[in-house]
Amino acid sequence: MKVLVAVKRVVDANVKVRVKADNSGVDLANAKMAINPFCEIAVEEAVRLKEQGIVEEIIAVSIGAKACQEQIRTSLALGADRGIHVETEDGLQPLAVAKLLHKVNEKEKADLVILGKQSIDSDNNQVGQMLAALSNMPQGTFASKLEVADGKATVTREVDGGAQTVRLSLPAIVTTDLRLNEPRYASLPNIMKAKKKQIDVMTAEELGVDTGSKLKVIGVEPPPGRSAGIVVESVDELIDKLKNEAKVI
Ligand code: AMP
Repeated sequence: MKVLVAVKRVVDANVKVRVKADNSGVDLANAKMAINPFCEIAVEEAVRLKEQGIVEEIIAVSIGAKACQEQIRTSLALGADRGIHVETEDGLQPLAVAKLLHKVNEKEKADLVILGKQSIDSDNNQVGQMLAALSNMPQGTFASKLEVADGKATVTREVDGGAQTVRLSLPAIVTTDLRLNEPRYASLPNIMKAKKKQIDVMTAEELGVDTGSKLKVIGVEPPPGRSAGIVVESVDELIDKLKNEAKVI
């Protein structure tokens, strides 16, 4: 069985980002970049399926500028077997990403495509669903548990107030939620081995996908700053302030 995992290069989740002075976006100059955390969970899940003997090959795909190869290398160090880099300098919208992944998968014919449920930079939560529609494949989104057997994937999904379990016929699309697993760290020997693994590079033009954007970001605003707190002298004063100033009780 073959698994394709989509890994996105995003700003590291621990970096406190700044909005650019002209409000056109977030300032990424010199920011530490990393694999999108949900994509790291996707790689981990594929590696666990391989360790269980269910999966034979894991392919990590990333779309974007040349620097994305760093995140592909990290995926290879975590256990993916080979990488595909779709190189483009264009700012990508979810539909373009989904179309490119669809084209890659038309060639690879993976039994399972695992994506993150969401990119932490653009917060779209769209690519997995769009890919399922373009590929005419069943989807199990927000997976907190995944079992694969007898040509089916059983996915427990995080839904409001509980969990829903769905069974999908393979090939299928799965998107990962936080509780699916806890990703491992790459060991030094595996980081060294990853340097020798193959990464194929292709362009969006070669795949015949127009990545032109139909959406324009008009402005990005930082959240409003919080005003400083105060220390009250007594419980009575606290109750008075909650009642008469904050008006919350
Ligand atoms: P989104 O719909 O943008 O929130 O992204 C959901 C998932 O789609 C991510 O977690 C990735 O698995 C995949 N994805 C989005 N953008 C890219 C990209 N540029 N390269 C590879 N995978 C991506």
